Amino acid sequence: WAFRPADPPAGDKYPVGYFRAPVSHTLLLSGTFGEMRPNHFHAGIDIKSSRGVAGDPVYAAADGYVSRIKVDESGYGRAIYINHPNGFTTVYAHLDHFTDELAAYVKKKQYARKSFEVDLSPAHGEFSFKKGEQIGTMGNSGSSNGAHLHFEVRKTSTQKPVNPLLFGFNVVDNVRPKMHALKAYFLNDKLEEQGSREFNLIKLKNGRYRLKGDTLELSAWGAGFALKVYDHFDGVSNWNGIYSLKMFRDEELIYEFEMESIAFNETRYVNAHCDYEERVTKKSYFNRCFHLPGNKLGIYTKKINNGVVELYANKPAHIKMVAADVAGNEATLEFWVRRSKSPAVPVAGKIYNYLFPYNEGNLIRTEGLYLHLPKGTLYENLYMKYDVTPERSDGCFSNVHHLHNYRTPVQKYFDIGIRPTVPIPAELKPKVFVAYCQGGEVWNCGGKWKDGLLRASVRAFGDYCIMVDEKPPVVKPVAFSYNMRGYNKMKFKVTDNVETIGRVRAISYNAWVDGQWILMEYDKKNDMLTYVFDEHVGEGDHVLKLIVKDAVGNETIFEKSFIR
Ligand SMILES: [Zn+2]
Repeated sequence: WAFRPADPPAGDKYPVGYFRAPVSHTLLLSGTFGEMRPNHFHAGIDIKSSRGVAGDPVYAAADGYVSRIKVDESGYGRAIYINHPNGFTTVYAHLDHFTDELAAYVKKKQYARKSFEVDLSPAHGEFSFKKGEQIGTMGNSGSSNGAHLHFEVRKTSTQKPVNPLLFGFNVVDNVRPKMHALKAYFLNDKLEEQGSREFNLIKLKNGRYRLKGDTLELSAWGAGFALKVYDHFDGVSNWNGIYSLKMFRDEELIYEFEMESIAFNETRYVNAHCDYEERVTKKSYFNRCFHLPGNKLGIYTKKINNGVVELYANKPAHIKMVAADVAGNEATLEFWVRRSKSPAVPVAGKIYNYLFPYNEGNLIRTEGLYLHLPKGTLYENLYMKYDVTPERSDGCFSNVHHLHNYRTPVQKYFDIGIRPTVPIPAELKPKVFVAYCQGGEVWNCGGKWKDGLLRASVRAFGDYCIMVDEKPPVVKPVAFSYNMRGYNKMKFKVTDNVETIGRVRAISYNAWVDGQWILMEYDKKNDMLTYVFDEHVGEGDHVLKLIVKDAVGNETIFEKSFIR
C-alpha cells in the first residue's frame, strides 16, 4: 500500500512514497529533471546542501545493493548507483566521500588499476544498504559548481532516467512557472525557417501573460513558436526547468511535451528542442513548440502538424500556451495570430553552395577537404555554406575550412579530413591535430593520417585547420615543498595551452613516490592534482616523480625530494 496523490501525474508507473529523500535536510532544488543544459537535458534533480558546503550525509533512498561505483575527473565525479528490488536504480553523484567501507574498496581498485578514474560493478550483494543508511557525503566532485547532490532515478533494465519528482518527494512548490519571451518563426510553404522575431510578454494576474497588441501579424505561410519559460520553487532563487508545455490552437491541443523520462541516447536532441542559435549566442533557452524533422526525442505527447500553425489573413488563430511544473502550478500565455495582409517580405536568398538533406548522408570531397556527415547528423535540411581561406599564422599547416557556422546544431559525430598546404617537418608530425577555431580559441579534435589527410571525428560546424602543439603542460606546485611534515596532502595545478573537445583526453598523468605509483586525484574543473598522504608514504626522505602529458604527448616531468 502506498500513498497516492489525488491526481498522479503519470499513472501508476512510479511508486509514490517508496523512496525516502537521499538527504535529511529540507529538499531545496537548484535543478530539475529535463531542464535544458548544453547538449543534454538534466537527467536528475539537484539538491542543495544544507549550509552551502560539502559534508551533508547522503542516504540510500530505499533498500538495495550497490551495482556501480564510478569515479570520474569530470562528469559525475564520485557516484554511487543502487539497484532496488522494485526495478529502479538510484544514482548519487558529485559525492565528497564514500562511506569507509566503499572508500576502501574503491581505493584498492584504483591502486590495482593504477588509475584515479574507475568504473566498478561490485558483485550483487557485496555492498547492500537499508533505506536510510548513509552511503556517503554530499560534495562538489566532477563537473559541479558548488556542493550539491545530483540525484537520479533510472529504470534498472534500460538505465533510462525518470523524473524523480514523479516518485513523490516532499518538495514544497507553490510557485508558478514564469514566462519570459515568445519567439515566432516565419516558415515557407516547405516549412523551412525564413526568419524569426522575439516578442516580450506582459504579465497579468494569476500566472497569465499576453503580448502587446491583440494580434500578431506575420508575413508567412505558417508560423512556429518557441517559449522561454522557467519554473521556480518556494525558498530558492534558482531558475529551474518546467515539467510540461501545452500549445492549443483554437482550443485544440496541437503540441505538448512532458519531462517524464529521457534516455541518454536521445538527450542530445535538446539541440533540436531548444533554439540552438539562442543557446550558443545568448545562453538563452527557448522551448521550441514546433518539431524539426530530424528530432527523434520521445518527450512529445502531441504534435499535430508538427506544431506548425498555418496562417490565414482573414481568419486569425487563437493560441494558448500552458506551462506547468510537477506540482501542477501553471502559467498561461494567450494571443491571436494571422497572416499579414501586406505581401510577404521577400526573403534574401540564402548564400550556400551545398544542399544537405537531413534524411541522407552528405559528403564533400575537394582537393583540400574530406567531409562526411552520416545520416541523422542534421535536424533539418541544411543550405550549407562552405569556403576556404589561407592561413599563414605560426603553428598552422593548412587552409582554414569554414564549415557553415557554429550556430547550427549537429546531432552526431562526423568525419573531417584536411590536407596540409605547407610541408610539416618530420619532428612535428606527431604533434599535429585537427583544430576547431571559434571566437579566438582553439580546440584539439585529435587527428590520424589517412591518404595524406589529417582525419578527425568532430561534432560542430565552424572553422577547422591543421595545427601543431609543441608546448608541454605546466605543473605548478600549490601545496608542495621540501618539508611536508604536518601536511596531509600535496597539490599541483596542471594547465595546458590547448583545450580538447569531444573524445580527446586533454591531460594524462602518473605519479610515483620512491618508484611506487601513488593515487593522485584529478579535479578537471579547477585543474588540480591532489595526493592525500596515505599508508603508501611514511615518515622520512622521499622522491616524488610526477609526469603530465597533453593530448599530443608533450610531457612535463616534475621530480623533487621531500621529507615527511
Ligand atoms: Zn545535476
